[in-house]
Amino acid sequence: TPARISSDNEVAEPLPGERPLARTRPSSRVGGWSPTSWKAKPDPQAIRYDDPVAVERVVARIEALPPLVSSWEVERLRSLIADAQLGRRFLLQGGDCAETTRDCRADTIVNKLEILLKMSLVLIVGGRKPVVRVGRFAGQYAKPRSRPTEVRGGVELPSYFGDLVNGPEFTPEARRPDPERMLSCYQHSAMTLNFVRSFSAGGLSDLKHPECWDLSFSEREDLPLSVRESFQATTRQLGDALRCMDALGGAGNELSRIEFFTSHEGLNLHYESAQTRAAPSRDEHYDLTTHMPWLGERTRALDGAHVEFLRGISNPIGIKLGPTVSPVDVLRLLDTLNPREIPGRIVLITRMGADRVEDTLPPLLEVVKRAGRRVLWICDPMHGNTITTSSGIKTREFGSIMREIEQTYDAHDACGTHLGGVHFELTGDDVTECIGGGVREEDLSRAYETLCDPRLNQAQALELSYCIARRMRA
Ligand code: PEP
Ligand code: MN
Repeated sequence: TPARISSDNEVAEPLPGERPLARTRPSSRVGGWSPTSWKAKPDPQAIRYDDPVAVERVVARIEALPPLVSSWEVERLRSLIADAQLGRRFLLQGGDCAETTRDCRADTIVNKLEILLKMSLVLIVGGRKPVVRVGRFAGQYAKPRSRPTEVRGGVELPSYFGDLVNGPEFTPEARRPDPERMLSCYQHSAMTLNFVRSFSAGGLSDLKHPECWDLSFSEREDLPLSVRESFQATTRQLGDALRCMDALGGAGNELSRIEFFTSHEGLNLHYESAQTRAAPSRDEHYDLTTHMPWLGERTRALDGAHVEFLRGISNPIGIKLGPTVSPVDVLRLLDTLNPREIPGRIVLITRMGADRVEDTLPPLLEVVKRAGRRVLWICDPMHGNTITTSSGIKTREFGSIMREIEQTYDAHDACGTHLGGVHFELTGDDVTECIGGGVREEDLSRAYETLCDPRLNQAQALELSYCIARRMRA
């Protein structure tokens, strides 16, 4: 397995002396920070393990295992994001809401890589620039919850916090937070990533014939003729481009080696800090469980444990911003998390909800622009658009998802900033969790498999990428 997957000739130097060091080593660069300094800060999502000794034992075990990613891969992603901040690349981030160890299977992973790759090709054609692919995978096993407990039939148990913490079954045994799960998820992340890496080095090359993709959505009678024509033009251009690249062969062939990066919400700080290591020559620390951890809407409190942890690592980081965040909060987050204005460090992921973009996004864009801060703005059109059907099923509508993207583009256009990426909850499998693109409300129960939020299926995700490509060209 190659140490890194790269589609071009840029060489990222390994950092010398990258050795596992005591994880309590403080940083002299980031004042008062160490990989465990978060322990002194409030954590509203803290996991209530009942055996702290067992937690320490598992953490020590993970600490001794090899990391999942390397600092030079992390640095490469940071430099690609720095490029995207300048408008030279577009970022596509996507995957499950909650990854599960049950779904750590070859077909499910391949389907996910396939849909991310197909979407990225469509977006390359639409935006005429390279796309950076970041999966919500190989570690997206921990979920924040709005409520610490769940009541069913008069019985109250801890909520399901993701496979990294406890099990989804509604029994006291399954719901008890079990530290051994950190080890199991770490191993499943390693298996997933191993498969992603080996598959990236060639196994996706039969995707280069878009004529063979299922593009039936682009012929649907209910679409206006102009939309259908634009979709078909995209497919034609994509086919031409891929055949041309194929003819050129070798170097520059986007499909001979596909680069994927990993990301997850950095929620369980025992897990994250266990694999946080120093590159001594540069006094930089890296969280090597993933290339890009992110702060969620529920974990971005300025004085909280998650901000404390992330401020000391050098990975690029995502920050989810929902409709309640104030412009001042955003500036404070940037001051705390990127005081030295490192290019490629910050990805701001806005998730306002289609109805709230117009009033909540412009003030954020304005204040960051006026302060001259360098960030990558991307849009998560999923989390602000979750609804519950009359029969109690959590879902999202294709129309609202696309509307949030349109509104977000409009807000950036009006402010003179630019939208540099998108973030989706999706799967390559044929599930029925979101409405639209051929799935009706009454179809939801047919293949509703998510343990957390509803995901786009393969066809819906692909159609969405065509809609975005259309908007990119508008
Ligand atoms: C998520 O990405 O699954 C999530 C919980 O998002 P947010 O923090 O934006 O609500
Ligand atoms: Mn989610």
